[in-house]
Amino acid sequence: MSFPTTSSLASATFPNTAQPWHTQPSSQALELLQSDPEQGLPESQITQRQQYYGANELKETGGRSPLQILWEQFTNIMLVMLIAVAVVSAVLDLKNGTFPKDAIAIFLIVILNGILGYLQESRAEKALAALKNLSSPKVRVIRNGKTEEISAKDLVPGDIMLLEAGVSIAADGRLLEAQNLQVKESALTGEAEGVNKQAEVILNEDAPLGDRINLVFQGTEVIQGRAKVLVCKTGMDTEIGHIAAMLQSVESEPTPLQQRMSQLGNVLVSSSLILVAIVVIGGVLRTGWGLFEQLLEVSLSMAVAVVPEGLPAVVTVTLAIGTQRMVRRNALIRKLPAVETLGSVTTICSDKTGTLTQNKMVVQQVQTGCQSFQVTGEGYAPIGEFIPDEERYKTEYQDVQLLLRACVLCNDALLQEKQGSWEIIGDPTEGALLSLAGKAGIYQEALTPSLPRVGEIPFSSERKRMSVVVEGVMLPEQEPPYTMFTKGSPELILERCTHVINGDRPQPLTSEERENILFQNDQMAMQGLRVLGFACRAIEEIPSLESEEIAEQQLIWLGLVGMLDAPRKEVKGAVLRCREAGIRAIMITGDHQLTAQAIAYDLGIAQPGDQILTGRELERFNQSELEEKVEQVSVYARVSPEHKLRIVRALQNRGKFVAMTGDGVNDAPALKQADIGIAMGITGTDVSKEASDMILLDDNFATIVAATEEGRVVYSNIRRFIKYILGSNIGEVLVIAASPLLGLGGVPLSPLQILWMNLVTDGLPALALAMEPAEPNVMKRPPFSPRESIFARGLGLYMVRIGIIFAILTIGLMVWAYNHAQASGDPQRWKTMVFTTLCLAQMGHALAVRSDNRLTIQLNPMSNPYVLGAITLTTLLQLLLIYFAPLRNFFGTHWLSFTELAICFGFSALMFVWIEIEKIIVNAFFVSQKTSSKL
Ligand code: ATP
Repeated sequence: MSFPTTSSLASATFPNTAQPWHTQPSSQALELLQSDPEQGLPESQITQRQQYYGANELKETGGRSPLQILWEQFTNIMLVMLIAVAVVSAVLDLKNGTFPKDAIAIFLIVILNGILGYLQESRAEKALAALKNLSSPKVRVIRNGKTEEISAKDLVPGDIMLLEAGVSIAADGRLLEAQNLQVKESALTGEAEGVNKQAEVILNEDAPLGDRINLVFQGTEVIQGRAKVLVCKTGMDTEIGHIAAMLQSVESEPTPLQQRMSQLGNVLVSSSLILVAIVVIGGVLRTGWGLFEQLLEVSLSMAVAVVPEGLPAVVTVTLAIGTQRMVRRNALIRKLPAVETLGSVTTICSDKTGTLTQNKMVVQQVQTGCQSFQVTGEGYAPIGEFIPDEERYKTEYQDVQLLLRACVLCNDALLQEKQGSWEIIGDPTEGALLSLAGKAGIYQEALTPSLPRVGEIPFSSERKRMSVVVEGVMLPEQEPPYTMFTKGSPELILERCTHVINGDRPQPLTSEERENILFQNDQMAMQGLRVLGFACRAIEEIPSLESEEIAEQQLIWLGLVGMLDAPRKEVKGAVLRCREAGIRAIMITGDHQLTAQAIAYDLGIAQPGDQILTGRELERFNQSELEEKVEQVSVYARVSPEHKLRIVRALQNRGKFVAMTGDGVNDAPALKQADIGIAMGITGTDVSKEASDMILLDDNFATIVAATEEGRVVYSNIRRFIKYILGSNIGEVLVIAASPLLGLGGVPLSPLQILWMNLVTDGLPALALAMEPAEPNVMKRPPFSPRESIFARGLGLYMVRIGIIFAILTIGLMVWAYNHAQASGDPQRWKTMVFTTLCLAQMGHALAVRSDNRLTIQLNPMSNPYVLGAITLTTLLQLLLIYFAPLRNFFGTHWLSFTELAICFGFSALMFVWIEIEKIIVNAFFVSQKTSSKL
């Protein structure tokens, strides 16, 4: 094997990857790409190739272009209406011979709003792209003679990539070895059926893509089997790169709330148009055409006032902040709607292994036909004792020796020492078995070369077992050349056994022995141990996949291995928090019912006496019977992925809002069906991640609960600023409508001033309110229905009530200010006093609305410093509008005296006082209700 020796990129020769790889034998492909199937590429080559071929990434062709994002800002119905208002106002001004200041200002604001919206949205898109990187898949490769896991984007042509079931293939490649490999290529060819792949064949150059069974392609998924692949093409050179199809791994669809908000926008715009029509037509009918222009002026102001121009931007920003808060707590949101709906979860269905438990397995007990012993040790280090009779177990007893060899041979994991610590690549269950055998001095490197694997029937959650076939004689008096080892769920393996190794040779298995094994299995499971059963058999021919049922029969029982997988420490507290928050935690596991029960008791998911349902029992129920059961049962054991689907459906039919975890390929349908599908970031297959709404970066149940809490915070903050913004809009409309009715002559607020309020003096505090931290009771109340209206639970009423109070206060001030101003030298001043009072009252509202039931003095002002900051900034800006001459001229405001300003402050403060009094009354009412219900 020769590698380019020159160090500089320019002089190095790099293999040409544009070859018809399917026409070449694998050896030739290896030669062309200067790689080695056992060693992979050396370090020096990797960096050079990465620079030469570039990162293994598809350049995004999907998504929106910047121009598109900008254009969409101006197609927003609210902005369209503002443009219409600007045009009408310009026509009126030009007709009267005045400079169309309002119109120009509105245009400027429309453009500014468009640019702000553009900046916000493109930042949100960038944030999503960053999240996408976080969820970028990992690939197992051989480099420098070692197996390691790397990020898919670091793959280069010449890399040796290892594939297994559930993996999404990260580059195009030529198969070097394949065992029962079946790949779903629908992303590329549209073919829904799995394609069986073979390494040995050589094809004609014109073989269509779908028939190139010696190649694998990026973006397709391994359904079953394993393979070793030579990476031939990466990035945009791959087939999927050529057709520029893009697999979006983070979707940015509008959330239900955003959809409802745009519907609300439509409703408000149409109602404001109706309002304009009523005011103009009603006015013309009453007073004739004489006052038409004045009427038009009033109605234009009302139209602008009704529409909450700043709201859509605040909603988008809040959702983006929500995803960031969640990712800080290890929950990666893949579909934006999950941010707001997570808070509504009523039921969390969780796997056991790895999510509720640590997934750090250590074998503690072993039981063969005749021997039973304990094993000590921690972690995966192959260091520990066999108790009570160390030496004899480790070297002498034949049945123990055979079982330990089965642990190593019937295993797909790798145990490696890295910088003094022992790590595994692969399934922790299998890692624990390698560590067990290592404690007796039996290692993969020494054993596997003399007993090469020639066949296998892979593990799946449905089968709950796996078999491998090795070439070699392992049993006494064995004639057939191959030995098959099977491991898996003990009950299932035992059903297939006819013999047991007693001492050093197989003997027929008596029913007494059978019962004894099951008894021992139960004993181990009751201690919360995860138990695997082992068996073997001599065979003449390598079985095909189809013959699995026949091959895995007449087995010889080898023994039981019980491993400890301790519950995660933080989960017990998380389950308790769930209970307080009205959320039910349910365990759905493939493991034994007694193991599940022991862990469920420990974590508080079930209490002694609670029913536990197994997959077999579940199969006997029809869907309506199951729906009744799911109300009571919180632990499901020995289930298959299809049972998960049934359980989710049953819960949903009972009106539950279900979050469900999953990691395997076959969990995808259940994840899609669940209201929130949750995939495991560490152990999850790419397929399950693709199907999920959220990924747990640490695989931890407690993270789901944390994300639910964040979801609740996001939703309550959204409600908070909606009531803040819309309450003010209602107030503004009423004040504008009142002034002509009271005969004050003229509109108190120009469209420009209203826009200023809606976008700046309302917008900034609203953004600050979106940063509000969790209220202390956020996880002490039941979840709210995701289907409830955003105005439910008194929000609509609050808005109207506060809008009216707002209006009464301001109208009170308006009447006084009008009379006061007529007597002063500047009769138009009252308008500025109304404008200022409306703005300042909203500052008080922002302070008070931070909590629904706690008084502002009970809140720590620094728990959300943004609110104080926004209020100070906005008040200063408002003062600038009054006291800074150029702004005063631009916004058409008037200078106010100190007393006038103080009066505005005084009236505004009443708004704050009112809301605080409301809280006192409501709290007192609840206290008296609680006491009377206790009596
Ligand atoms: P959970 O569903 O909570 O993650 P689980 O890991 O037990 O629990 P599965 O992965 O579906 O669920 O496994 C089901 C059963 O299959 C296990 O209880 C075990 O008996 C058996 N099993 C698990 N891993 C292997 C393996 N690598 N080889 C053989 N059998 C296995």
